[in-house]
Amino acid sequence: MDLNAYITNVPDFPKEGIQFKDITPLIGDAEAFRFAINEMAAFARAKEADVIVGPDARGFIFGTPVAYALNLGFVPVRKPGKLPRETLEKTYDLEYGTNTLAIHKTEIKPGQKVVIADDLLATGGTIEATVELIEALGAHVVGCVFLIELDFLEGRKKLKSIPIKTLLHY
Ligand code: AMP
Repeated sequence: MDLNAYITNVPDFPKEGIQFKDITPLIGDAEAFRFAINEMAAFARAKEADVIVGPDARGFIFGTPVAYALNLGFVPVRKPGKLPRETLEKTYDLEYGTNTLAIHKTEIKPGQKVVIADDLLATGGTIEATVELIEALGAHVVGCVFLIELDFLEGRKKLKSIPIKTLLHY
């Protein structure tokens, strides 16, 4: 299935010089969305994930159905001030701006195998911060799966030897 047909390029959003990849046509199409989730889930299954983690907010769109498909739990990594219990936090650079991410300290168990799911790998800052949070809790990131990767930003260099699967490269 040609998922590329379901991605809309929006120039200069949210600011000049950024070509925004709008995934809403893809998730709004039953067949395309199911196809993408099945592909992502196949990767997480092959990595024998114990739990799926997804960063705020588009990581929730892809991570939760992957977890459901594999009969696994999902752990959200959220913007600060959203999680009600004790968190670990990490601040990092975005392709546009900076961000802080937080995770509940008790959701990830030491030794667990974690697959991270997100919509798009750009500079890799978000995923690098997410990996650091998971590893600080004693778990292992056994893979990262993305719908889209912006190859020219070389975000995968930040993930070093962690296996990566991406459905669409630009
Ligand atoms: P990064 O930390 O640079 O890898 O980017 C993190 C997040 O920012 C991605 O998961 C996307 O949700 C969003 N993002 C960054 N660049 C783009 C883009 N060109 N189009 C759409 N979303 C983007």
